[in-house]
Amino acid sequence: MAAGNRSVLVVLDSRRVAERARADRTVFAALDHFGVAYEVLECGDYMALPPGHAAPRGAYVLAHDGAGAGIKPQVAVEIAKSVRGGAGLLTFDREINGWPAALRSLLPASRQSEQTDRIRFPATRHFITFGHEQDEDVGLDMPIGVCTFQTDGTFRSVASTGLGGCVVVLGQVDGGRVVAFGTGDQLYSEDVYGHVRGADGLMWRALVWVAAKPFPMRCIPPFVSARMDDCNGAYCAFGYVDVLNRYGIGPNLGLFIAEMGPTDWAAAKRLFDKGGADFSMHAFRDDLYKAKWHKPYAVLKDKPDLSNGGRDVRFEGLSIDHGTGRDLDDATVERNFKRMDDAFARAGIKHSRVINSHFGEIGWRAVPGFLARGADMPCNNAAVGQLYGNQPSWRPKPYGLRGRNGRSGLVIDRCPHHPGITHINMSPAHLGKTHMIADILSGHTPFAGESDRSRPQDAARRGITNVRLGLDSLAFGVIMTHEERIDAISPGDWETVVSAIIRGLNGWDAEFAGREHVSIICKRLFDSSLVYAETTETGLRCELCGHTDGPSPLTIWRNEGDGCTRRTVEIPRLDGFRAVHVT
Ligand SMILES: [Zn+2]
Repeated sequence: MAAGNRSVLVVLDSRRVAERARADRTVFAALDHFGVAYEVLECGDYMALPPGHAAPRGAYVLAHDGAGAGIKPQVAVEIAKSVRGGAGLLTFDREINGWPAALRSLLPASRQSEQTDRIRFPATRHFITFGHEQDEDVGLDMPIGVCTFQTDGTFRSVASTGLGGCVVVLGQVDGGRVVAFGTGDQLYSEDVYGHVRGADGLMWRALVWVAAKPFPMRCIPPFVSARMDDCNGAYCAFGYVDVLNRYGIGPNLGLFIAEMGPTDWAAAKRLFDKGGADFSMHAFRDDLYKAKWHKPYAVLKDKPDLSNGGRDVRFEGLSIDHGTGRDLDDATVERNFKRMDDAFARAGIKHSRVINSHFGEIGWRAVPGFLARGADMPCNNAAVGQLYGNQPSWRPKPYGLRGRNGRSGLVIDRCPHHPGITHINMSPAHLGKTHMIADILSGHTPFAGESDRSRPQDAARRGITNVRLGLDSLAFGVIMTHEERIDAISPGDWETVVSAIIRGLNGWDAEFAGREHVSIICKRLFDSSLVYAETTETGLRCELCGHTDGPSPLTIWRNEGDGCTRRTVEIPRLDGFRAVHVT
C-alpha cells in the first residue's frame, strides 16, 4: 500500500454515477477536510491492484450505495481479514446484500428496511455521539429509506430511526472496529440533512473510533476564538476584550477607524502589544454609535462625533460602493489605504492577516492593496468583489455549503479569483432564517430596540450552540458579535455572557486561541496534506506534501478504553515534502 498501514482505503464504484457524484460532496469532501491520508479502491477500474493495496490499512470506508458490491471476492476476503486483525470499517453503503460474503460477515446478520424522517440519539453516551443530548431527536428535511440492524452483545446502536430501529450501529469484530451508517451517505446530502448542521461529529468520530491506532490526521485542532465587527472600542475602550483574554481568547476586531478616539487607539496599542487581539480595517465609519435608535450603556468622552450628534450618519468603506457594488475609483482606493496605513502607524499597531470588511465587502482593487500589507485571509464568508447579498454560487470548500438564505457557513478555500487570498471562516449563518444567528447578542440587547432588556443567558446559549457546531464540524468555534450590541449592555452582563459560554464548553475538548492564529493554522493545513502514514515498532512515520509558512499541528489519535484521545505534534515549516518520525 502506497499510503501506509495507517492510511484509509476508500471504496467507490464510478459505474454508479449518481451515488459516486453524491459521495464527492458527502464523504470525499469530508475526508479532505478531516485531513486523513487516503487512497481509493475504484471498483469501476480494470487495472490490477498493486500488491498490498487492499491491506494492511488503518481503516476502510465504503463511500456510497453499491460500492461494496463491486469489490472482487478475493479482495473482500483480504479486507475482512484486515478488519478482523485490527483495522476499522466505516460503511455508508446500504446495499449490503450485494456485498461479497466475507464483508457481509462483519455486520449484524439481521437487517431490515425502513423509511425515516428523523434520527434519534440514544440515552447512553459514546465517543461517537459526543455532544448530542440524551434522546436528542433530529428531523431530516425529507424521509429516506434506511437499513436498520439487529443489535446484540457484539453490536450496539448509536442512532435510531423514528420507529426505534438501529440505524447507525457500532461493534467490535475480533480485533477490529466497525461502524455502519444505515442512512448511507444520504444523511450528509444537503437535501436530506447535510454537513455543518450538527451531525458531522458522528462521521469523523466514527472514522477516528474505528481506525487502527495510532491514527494521524491533519485536522484543525478544536480552537475556540472570537470576532467582533463594527468596532470603535465601545464605551469601554475595548475593555470587553480583557474578559475574553482572561480565558485565552484573542478576538479579531474589525475597526471603524474614523470613529475611534485617543483612548480607543491607546487601548488598541495595549492589546496589540500583549497579543490580546488582532486588528482589521472594517470601514472608516458607519456611525451606528450615534444612531437615534441606539442607547449606549455609557459614552466615552473623547470619541469623535463625525455625524453632528447623529444628524448626518454615514457609511464610508475602503474600496467598494455599498450602494452599487462597483469598486471605488483607483485614486480613492489608494487614498483610503493611505488613510488606513496612517491610522494604524500612528497607533503603533499592524493590520492583521485577517481581512474583516464591513458587510464582508472587498473591492477588486483592494486585493493587491491588502496583499501588499500582508493581509490575505478574509473571514466574512463572502466572495471578493461582491456586495453582501446575492452572493455568487462559488461552492467554497470544504462542502460547498449554501444555506436557504444563500450564506456559505464553513469556508476554508482559496479565493476563486486570486491565488494569494484564502477565505477562512466558521459561521452558522447558513442555518438561520436571518444571518444574524452568527451574532450571539443579536436580539438579546436593547440595541436598536431588538430586545426590551439585556438577555445575557440567551446570548450565552447561542454562543455555546455556535461554538459547539464549529467543534462538531471539526472546524473551529467563533464567539461572534457586533460591537454596537456590546455598547448597549453593562460590563457585568458581558462578563456573564462570556463566562457562561466558557462553562458551556465544560467536557468539550477546546483550545482557546487568537482569531488570527486560527486562520494561520487553518491555512497551513489547507496548503498541505498528509500523504503517507505507517506505524512500526519504532514509531509512526508520516509524510507530508505542501507548502506552509510556519509550523503546523499533526493530530494523533489513540484508543483509551472505548473512547479515543488525541495529542498534537508540531510539524516544522513545509517546503514541498517532509517525512517525520513520531514516537
Ligand atoms: Zn460590519
